[in-house]
Amino acid sequence: MEPTDLIDLSGLRMGPGEGRRLDLPVKLDAVRLSEQGYVPDPPTQEVRLDISRMLGGGYALQLRFDTSIHGPCMRCLADTTSPVSVDVRELEQKKRDPEEQFDSEYVAGDDLDLARWTNDSFVFSLPVRVLCKEDCRGLCPECGAHLNDDPDHTHDPKPDPRMSALASIRFDEDGNLLQGP
Ligand SMILES: [Zn+2]
Ligand SMILES: [Zn+2]
Repeated sequence: MEPTDLIDLSGLRMGPGEGRRLDLPVKLDAVRLSEQGYVPDPPTQEVRLDISRMLGGGYALQLRFDTSIHGPCMRCLADTTSPVSVDVRELEQKKRDPEEQFDSEYVAGDDLDLARWTNDSFVFSLPVRVLCKEDCRGLCPECGAHLNDDPDHTHDPKPDPRMSALASIRFDEDGNLLQGP
């Protein structure tokens, strides 16, 4: 089935108070987070769209889907897949009084831009950090070892070169410099 982009809402011929449920495939785009590339998995996701025609005219829309995103763990860079759950709503109701009007940015005329709404809500619903596991320990800042595999990993403290320079300075009893760094 071809991915859906636009839906002609008036073409559904819904009467006031009527509801319709549609399950549709939509293409999701790759995203960049923290300078890394992430891809939706699967790239074409089936989404559930519930459309209600309101009594006073206009539409109440709900979009739901469960999918996942694939890419490097933000701490240890291991390949990882994180679940993404989307549940968003939009209202589109034209009224003469602008105060009472709901104007969805995804509805233009009678067309619902399902592809853009799906992609925007996917990005909006992404986890703050994509991690291979909640308590990923990341990489050793000194040698880059995976701390998940080697948690007790240590390094000998390196002598500080500034301290060894100071250690080589010698003074005589009167405070005169005998030997510089
Ligand atoms: Zn990790
Ligand atoms: Zn290390």
